[in-house]
Amino acid sequence: MNQQKKGLNTICTHVGEVVDEQFKGAISPLYMSTSYAFEDVDVKRYPRYFNTPNQEALCLKVAALEHAEAALIFGSGMAAVSTAMMAFLRAGDHIVLQRTLYGGTYNLVTEEFEKYGILYSFTDGLQPEDFEAKVQENTKVIYVETPSNPLLTITDLKAVADIAKKHGIVSMIDNTFASPVNQNPIDFGIDVVIHSATKYMGGHSDICAGAVASTEEYMERIFHLAKNFGGSLSDYTVWLLERSIKTMGIRVRAQNTNALQMAEYLHKHADIQNVYYPGLASHPDHELARKQMKGFGGMLSFELQDGFDASEFQKALQLIKSSMSLAGVESTVLSPTQTSHALLGAEERERQGIKDGLIRFSVGIEEVEDLIEDIEQALEKVRSTVVATTH
Ligand SMILES: *Cc1c(COP(=O)(O)O)cnc(C)c1O
Repeated sequence: MNQQKKGLNTICTHVGEVVDEQFKGAISPLYMSTSYAFEDVDVKRYPRYFNTPNQEALCLKVAALEHAEAALIFGSGMAAVSTAMMAFLRAGDHIVLQRTLYGGTYNLVTEEFEKYGILYSFTDGLQPEDFEAKVQENTKVIYVETPSNPLLTITDLKAVADIAKKHGIVSMIDNTFASPVNQNPIDFGIDVVIHSATKYMGGHSDICAGAVASTEEYMERIFHLAKNFGGSLSDYTVWLLERSIKTMGIRVRAQNTNALQMAEYLHKHADIQNVYYPGLASHPDHELARKQMKGFGGMLSFELQDGFDASEFQKALQLIKSSMSLAGVESTVLSPTQTSHALLGAEERERQGIKDGLIRFSVGIEEVEDLIEDIEQALEKVRSTVVATTH
């Protein structure tokens, strides 16, 4: 049976289970051992070698989800990002990165790379030619993020993968925002797929983890560094993550549906100025999103009309919490200017089009009617202050 060819929810539920030979239990038993007898000199099981029974099983599930030959699970999304990047970069090498990057990745590159002698360029725009324009003789990695955070821009995966191939460069993507439910970059020729499993894979805001998927050859190279960097995930959390992924397909599809409905509602609303969601026909890259995504995801951003106080609006929300992180079953909002993108500085934010009043909305699985009611009552409150101060 080719497990990789099964449908999404079947992979989520069944691929890579640890079979309970002893008691025939329905779920994977959890092996917490950090020490295993030497049965076979070729297999030295140890958590930091990423090869305990639960780790190995979950790697199969993630590989199947991303149409990859192999995968590894990490202790955080940033452990996955940093290990994957560093596996292909040494002093004197160069990496081309999409300008709109997750804040933590931006910090990793701008705060750490110089001391390792690794050179980097950010693209000026998000078109394929913007990536090619930054390629140098010593470029070893091209790194993309689509949909991006927080404006949900879309980068053409196939075009970027083709550019990388043409120049003999490894292409990498942070696929966190889409999740494997909505986008499988390997199908478009991208080499290495990275996830913060803290987000949609975990999905309940209670797990911090990461994942990388690629070919056997590239994963071998990443593993080599990973065991030395030591960013493995504890088996207990691996086990929880396996449980979470069982429902990832139904969770994320519910979030896709809710987010599209919320985007359409906000788009029509007189108090809302702009809505950024790749599922809206008005999104500049809607057609491209349709080509490379199976669903448009649970993330969107919007701006209130001039005069509306975005932070008062967020405080007025009752059901939707204003909080860090994203992708849980519960809806949350945050202000990128004050949180995830605060370190970028006003000038770089302006360059990326991130306005002070922008609100990023991680849409959960609640009933849409209740989310709308919450937004209506919050708008009502801030609308009265707009009127009060202008008259
Ligand atoms: C959260 C996030 C990360 C980092 O993941 P951690 O699990 O917090 O280390 C990387 N990329 C994206 C797009 C994220 O949202």
